[in-house]
Amino acid sequence: MQAELICIGNELLTGLVENTNAGYISRILWSKGIPVREQHVVPDSIPEIAAAIGEALACSEAVICCGGLGPTDDDLTREAVAALLERPLIVDRQWLQRLEQYFESRGYPMPPANRKQALLIEGSRLLPNPRGTAPGAIIPAGKRWIILLPGPPQELRPLFEQEVVPFFRSAGFRASWQTRLIRTAGCGESLLEEKIKGAGLPEGVFFSPLAGGGEVLLQLKTAAAPAAEALLERALRRLREQLGEYIYGEGEATLAGTVAALLGSRGLTLALAESCTGGLLADLITDIPGSSLFFKGALVTYTDEAKEKLLGIAPDLLNSKGAVSEEVALAMARGARRVLSASVGGAITGIAGPDSDSSGTPPGLVYTAVSGPSGERCRRTFFPGTRRAIKERAAQTLLIALWRMIHSGD
Ligand code: ATP
Ligand code: MG
Repeated sequence: MQAELICIGNELLTGLVENTNAGYISRILWSKGIPVREQHVVPDSIPEIAAAIGEALACSEAVICCGGLGPTDDDLTREAVAALLERPLIVDRQWLQRLEQYFESRGYPMPPANRKQALLIEGSRLLPNPRGTAPGAIIPAGKRWIILLPGPPQELRPLFEQEVVPFFRSAGFRASWQTRLIRTAGCGESLLEEKIKGAGLPEGVFFSPLAGGGEVLLQLKTAAAPAAEALLERALRRLREQLGEYIYGEGEATLAGTVAALLGSRGLTLALAESCTGGLLADLITDIPGSSLFFKGALVTYTDEAKEKLLGIAPDLLNSKGAVSEEVALAMARGARRVLSASVGGAITGIAGPDSDSSGTPPGLVYTAVSGPSGERCRRTFFPGTRRAIKERAAQTLLIALWRMIHSGD
């Protein structure tokens, strides 16, 4: 089986909205072993939407469309499919009622424009959208299927995972391959590749590394077959033996989530002192539900004055070593740990650029330090790129250091 993706909307073509739905759907399908043949972006226009779906249907068993299901005049996906299949649109009474109740509960009558969101192509199945007014639909087209999903990602994602993926399974679509996504941090792409080749993966298992944002993803893949799962497990065991110290998770795991889970399971608490990242790492950590159980807080100490007053760093040390130095990074980690009575302290100090600092230290130089029950570590790194990229890499590097210290005591 293969799928094809059609994202609909002028706002995607003008770049006003980033097409994140395409990446999301393709990632999920990849993990389910279903190849995506092509992705298309088409404007809000009936002939162009219909043509794109028609061409995709000629090649792929499932054509997944997103967007254009809203109430406004430029939402034309339903009409385009009706025109292509030459099938009528009929009112889904139940959804119409739901829409009316929805607006009533908000204290005003349903605008007439929303009525069209209850229109369903004859013979198709409505996918109730718990987060919005536009329902999805599964529409049979000969032996193939057209799937319509609302454009807003927070509406599309639950519908895709809870309705479309199970539908593929129940309709008997077979995966072409079986996959695993392994997440690593702290080892460069080429060294990792060398180690994997050294590991000697079982025959029939293919891997491709994908580097970005300070991490390397390893995509493992093998043809769908009864023995596929066992084969992948064997490959994974080899990888763990060879690069276990760099593997932090699988699938949708994140480094921040992994660090959070480790802190939680060991009963440790964390405090941060951030300079050039301006609270970015605290933001990542507090994205994790339940972070209040282990995260004590972060001090954003941007100036020397803030480092002295909030973290108790000696002015002499700041003057003699400079704020961007190993000694100050370690003092910041110790300071955060002490001030907030945490078991582990982490700190970041560096030059985010784009210019050098007054002493001539070049942008991209960053020190990350951790101070915990098993000791202290500091790392000096140099990141290329924009101010934002340097901040993100700095936050990521401290996460790696925290992960290493907590999970291996390294
Ligand atoms: P609505 O009822 O909200 O109008 P809809 O199905 O008609 O739903 P669109 O009007 O096409 O969806 O898009 C609504 C919003 O959803 C867009 O403004 C955009 O913010 C987001 N969106 C649409 N398509 C995509 C996409 N491919 N990737 C990311 N976001 C998208
Ligand atoms: Mg719309």
